[in-house]
Amino acid sequence: MLKKRLGISRNGLRIGTHRHSILARSSLLVATVLTLAGPTPAAAQPFEGCPSNPIFAVFKDVGRTGRMPPAMGSWIGDPDAQKIVPWKVFDNVHYVGVCWVSAWAIRTEDGVVLIDTLHEPNVDQLIANLNEVGIGLDEIKYVLMTHGHYDHVGGAFKLKPLLPNARFAMTRAGWDEALESAKQSEGTPRAWQMIQPDMVVKDGDVIKLGGNGFGILETPGHTWGTASYTYDVKDGGNTYRAITVGGLALTSVNGSQQVESYIASVDRIKRLVQQPGNPIAVHLTTHSFSAGLMEAREKLAARQPNQTHPLVDQQDLLAQLDLLRGGALRRLEVERRAGR
Ligand SMILES: [Zn+2]
Repeated sequence: MLKKRLGISRNGLRIGTHRHSILARSSLLVATVLTLAGPTPAAAQPFEGCPSNPIFAVFKDVGRTGRMPPAMGSWIGDPDAQKIVPWKVFDNVHYVGVCWVSAWAIRTEDGVVLIDTLHEPNVDQLIANLNEVGIGLDEIKYVLMTHGHYDHVGGAFKLKPLLPNARFAMTRAGWDEALESAKQSEGTPRAWQMIQPDMVVKDGDVIKLGGNGFGILETPGHTWGTASYTYDVKDGGNTYRAITVGGLALTSVNGSQQVESYIASVDRIKRLVQQPGNPIAVHLTTHSFSAGLMEAREKLAARQPNQTHPLVDQQDLLAQLDLLRGGALRRLEVERRAGR
């Protein structure tokens, strides 16, 4: 019933070629502010599993109408509906996030780096996922946070006392926006708390841990404080440079200046991706549906020994960045026309 109302096909997951799925992703760019409802008592289940294209299809509608279907808001806010089984993505990387938002655990010889904390109601799942993939909470040395939105950093408050050896890192502006956002949420049904700034990182910093180097890029646009992170991922005997692009959607844009920053950040990432000698070939996204992650999971499971890893795809990464850029150009026109 709900599926019908949302126009979601059971087979949506399998429709379209790879190229079509990239095109479908562009709809995220025009998505407007997401109004998230808390879980409802009889939580609606608009999706089976975590299929990228149907989720994106809903966001296309959100972009057109500026309205979040209530079932979608409930789904995002329902920890049980958000569960997905954690999986080994690369030899040194596990996906430990939920369907809506990612958390990445990168193992090194000297401990683990976690990227993003999820939202507070998802932290129990995050801990269960870490446990399931054999990562002890005391092994986590850094928690690199991408930006100050509750779905990426709202778990920090609950997580920090549980990670005795971890430094929580974010950009200065990221900490500021997280604290401000948490403060604004006080007294609302979706109130959340933020930890005080622990470690402040800035553009060009590299955190070295156990043979890996985690590069920090300040990439303002999605929010002013958004950071992206680069690091090595391993597949058999091969090592690839990966990036987690810190923020994707233009959901928190306030004026043309921010969109211009967004475009400049995308252009900079594109140059880094194609950097001679140290190219980036892998995007480990902050939102799985934006990069067809669950479908890549299926491909990885069915991979033959002579095939490359489905997520090692620089052309796809560049195509994703081009789509982000195209959406931002359209949004720039809208902002300028509105005199913002
Ligand atoms: Zn965000």
